Amino acid sequence: MKVVCFGKNLTTICYMASLDKIALVTGAASGIGWAIACLLHDEGLHVVICDNSKDNLDLANIKINEENYQNMSSFHADVSLEADVVKLFNHIKKTFGRLDYLVNNAGIDSFCDPETFSISKYNHVMAVNVTSVFLAIREAIPLMRNSKEASIVNIGSIHGQLTTAGRSDYVTSKAALVGATQSLSLDLASEKIRINMVSPGAIDTPMLLRGWKRKAPNIDLNEVRNRANLIHPCGRIGQPEDIANAVFFLLSEKASFINGVNLNVDGGIHSKVFLSTIWDKQ
Ligand code: NAD
Repeated sequence: MKVVCFGKNLTTICYMASLDKIALVTGAASGIGWAIACLLHDEGLHVVICDNSKDNLDLANIKINEENYQNMSSFHADVSLEADVVKLFNHIKKTFGRLDYLVNNAGIDSFCDPETFSISKYNHVMAVNVTSVFLAIREAIPLMRNSKEASIVNIGSIHGQLTTAGRSDYVTSKAALVGATQSLSLDLASEKIRINMVSPGAIDTPMLLRGWKRKAPNIDLNEVRNRANLIHPCGRIGQPEDIANAVFFLLSEKASFINGVNLNVDGGIHSKVFLSTIWDKQ
């Protein structure tokens, strides 16, 4: 955490206090996860990012070097695979001995036609978006016992509460996280670990753009962006930094009395009834 204070020694003390904190952000080589990792790093934490995409990790590593992010490191792991999650947390245990903040951000989008429902595709969506959260928390608990301020944030989606047709597998996975977050907040309370959830609306990331291209392959992306901006009460879609700010607040001590909540960060779109107007001409 950056602290502006007078006197060289005091500044050093404040900075060191934050550098003591260790954060893990999953699926952080792109989009929202990368923005969260950068904010936590800028606030003076040690940040480990993990991702299952070697290409995304290569790009992230280039940025880490270019920006000289000395307290950020990366680890290749598919969080839907138990063996990878165990390896990831063993790495954190060996390197730092404990974990203060965990952000379960890794997730995949999915579209589902009930008539051609595929068990393997459904299981994969659930494994990445839900099972991974349970695996990471199981491995995090022993490391978080050594923390004075342990906190977890799960990244959901407003699709977990209100949605459009054709997304039932993704919606099921994100709705499951709402219940899991609430229930886990009771389980983890005795360990003094808080757990909350942030549910983003439309956020300008590669995932959103892939979804738009799929939904409207013949419409120019700038045109879609304009329409999406227009239907938002605040006149714009979100940026990854909007989510990072909310996550950082929930992780931090400033949210020490907030536990088990789901915070929609969506520019107010959840208050509108016709989300699908994004595809209508204004
Ligand atoms: P993104 O595709 O830009 O980035 C996701 C990253 O996660 C990628 O680098 C990907 O390689 C990684 N990842 C995917 N599966 C993984 C796995 N099994 N193990 C490890 N890493 C994995 O997506 P984003 O938009 O940044 O989404 C981040 C989170 O936010 C997701 O959980 C998503 O469901 C949620 N979300 C996004 C939006 C949006 O509009 N972008 C809206 C609501 C919720």
